[in-house]
Amino acid sequence: AMVATRASDERGTAQQVDVAVVGAGFAGLYLLHRLRKAGLSAVGLEEAGDVGGTWYWNRYPGARCDIQTIDYSYTFDPELETAWTWSEKYATQPEILRYLGFVADRYDLRGDIRFRTKVTEAKWDEKAERWQLTTDNGPPVSCRHYIMATGCLSAPKPPEIDGVKDFKGEVYFTGRWPHGGVNLAGKRVAVIGTGSSAIQSIPLIAEQAAHLTVFQRTPNFALPAHNGPAPSDRMSLLQSDRPAYREQARQSMAGVPYPQQTVVSWQLSDAERRERFERAWAAGDLVHILTQLWADQAVDVDGNKIVQDLIREKIRAAVKDPETAAALTPHDHPFGAKRPCLDTNYYATYNRPNVTLVNLRQEPIKAITASGISTNGRSVDVEIIVFATGFDAMTGAIRAVHPITGRGGKSLTDVWAQGPQTYLGLTVEGFPNFFMITGPGSPSVLSNMAVSIEQHVDWVVDRLAALRDAGFTTIEPTETAQAGWGRHMADCSMVTLHRLANTWYTGANVPGKVQGLMPYTGGVGPYRSICDEVVSRGMLGFKLT
Ligand code: FAD
Repeated sequence: AMVATRASDERGTAQQVDVAVVGAGFAGLYLLHRLRKAGLSAVGLEEAGDVGGTWYWNRYPGARCDIQTIDYSYTFDPELETAWTWSEKYATQPEILRYLGFVADRYDLRGDIRFRTKVTEAKWDEKAERWQLTTDNGPPVSCRHYIMATGCLSAPKPPEIDGVKDFKGEVYFTGRWPHGGVNLAGKRVAVIGTGSSAIQSIPLIAEQAAHLTVFQRTPNFALPAHNGPAPSDRMSLLQSDRPAYREQARQSMAGVPYPQQTVVSWQLSDAERRERFERAWAAGDLVHILTQLWADQAVDVDGNKIVQDLIREKIRAAVKDPETAAALTPHDHPFGAKRPCLDTNYYATYNRPNVTLVNLRQEPIKAITASGISTNGRSVDVEIIVFATGFDAMTGAIRAVHPITGRGGKSLTDVWAQGPQTYLGLTVEGFPNFFMITGPGSPSVLSNMAVSIEQHVDWVVDRLAALRDAGFTTIEPTETAQAGWGRHMADCSMVTLHRLANTWYTGANVPGKVQGLMPYTGGVGPYRSICDEVVSRGMLGFKLT
C-alpha cells in the first residue's frame, strides 16, 4: 500500500508554485533569477537535458551569434558583465552555451529546473485561479502564473518532402544537431535550405565533405562577419561608460547601441553612398549594414534598392560562375525585410570544385529516395542529408503545448485560428496570468533578443510583484486593448518594407500557417516606452482582480 501511495503521489499530486517558467534559455534563466529575488516561488520546466535553449540545440558546424557578443549578453548585473570576457566578436555556440551555464551556476538556478520535462497541456482553473500544467515527465504543476519562455526559434519545421523515411543514409537537422558531432569527412553530403544556419554551416561542411550539394529554394542576403576579436572602438565605448552604452541599446530601434541615421539616400552622392557601404561591409557588422547606411533604407523602396544593388554586386564579384552567382542573388524581398545572414566565406564556397548548387526554383525536389535526392533535372546520390529548413517561428513552440485552455474553456489554438493576437506581445485576452516572453506582437526577432528578453522579464516580474503586493490574484488584457495593439502593429508595419516580403516573419515558410507579420516593427525603444506607459497609466488595457 505504501508503494502504491507514493507512485500515485508522484503522478497525481501537483507541484505547487507561484510561477511556472517553461524554457531554460536566455529568457527562462533570467526569469528564474528575477522571480527568486522578487520572493516568488518558481519552477523551470525544460525539454532539453540542460540549460541554454537555442544554444543547447543548435550545435551544427559554424553556429554562432550574428549580433556582436558584447551586445548579445545579459546586462542586469554589472558584476556578471565584468566576470565574463568573450573571446570573439561573434562567439561560437559552445562559448555561448558555456556562458549560459556560467550564469546558471553563478545564480544557482539549475536546482529550480526540471530538465527532460516537456509541458504538454495547460489549463486555467477558474475556481482556483491557477494554471494546471501537464508534463511528460514527473508530476503536473499547479501555478498562479504561467510564463512561456519557449523561444521564437525553437520548434524546428518538419521536412516537407516525401520519402525521408526511405533514405538509407544519415539525416540531421541543424536545430537538433547531435552532441557528439557528425563525421562528414569524405562523405557525399546534401544540405537542404539556405537560411542562416545553412549559410553558417555550408563553408565548414564543404571543407570536410567529399562533395556537398546545396538545395536552395530562396536565396538570402548574406553579409561577411569578418570575425575576430571584439572591435576596439566598440569595446572602448562599452568600457568608458557601461551604463550609458547599455541604456543606448535599450532605447534604440534594434537593441544595439547605434544612433538613428538622419541623412537620406538622395542627399548623398553615388560616391558617398558607396563609401558608406564599403565601410560597413568591411566592418562585418550586420546591424550596421541594416541600420546605419541612410535613414530611408528600411522604409523607402528606392533607398532600399540602392543597398540591394550594392550587395548584388558583391555576390557577383565573389562567385566565379555567373549562373551560380545569379541563382544565389535574392530578388524577391527588400534588404532587411527578411533577416539577412552573417557568413564566413559563404559565397566563395561555391567556387570550390566539390560544391554544387541546385536551384529548386528551376528544378524542384521530386522525392527523397533510398540513395539520395531527385529533382526534375537530376538524381544526387548522398550519404548524409542535412535539413537546414528553419523553424515554425514565434508561434510554433507556443502552439505545440496543446491545448492551452483559458477562461470559458477557450483554447489558444481556436483564439489564434486567424493568426496570433496579443496585447503587447506579452499577454492574451481570455488567458489570465499567462505571459509570453518575446511573443508574437513584440519586437522579438527584429531585435537583439538579449535586450528584448531582459525588458520583457523585468516588466513581467515587476508586474507580478506589484500585483501580489496590491492583493490582486489575476491580470488579463481587455479585448479592446488587444484589438488596439493589433491595429497599432498593422500601422507600424505599413511604414516599413516588411509588408513587401513573404518570410518566416510572416509565417510564409510553413505550409498552411496563417499569414501575417508576427513581430512588432515599431522598434525596441518605442516598445519599451509603451510598456512603461501602460504601467504609469494604472495598467492601461489590463483588468486586475
Ligand atoms: P530559447 O533559447 O529558444 O529557449 C526556449 C527553450 O524552451 C528551449 O530550450 C526549449 O527546449 C524549451 N521549450 C519549448 N517548448 C517547451 C515545452 N513545451 N516544454 C518544455 N520546454 C520547452 N538572437 C539574437 O538576438 N542574436 C543572435 O545572434 C542570434 N543568433 C541565433 C542563432 C541561431 C542558430 C538561432 C536558432 C537563434 C539565434 N538567435 C539570435 C535567436 C535566439 O533564439 C534568441 O537570441 C535567444 O536565444 C532566445 O532565448 P529564449 O530563452 O527566449 O528561447
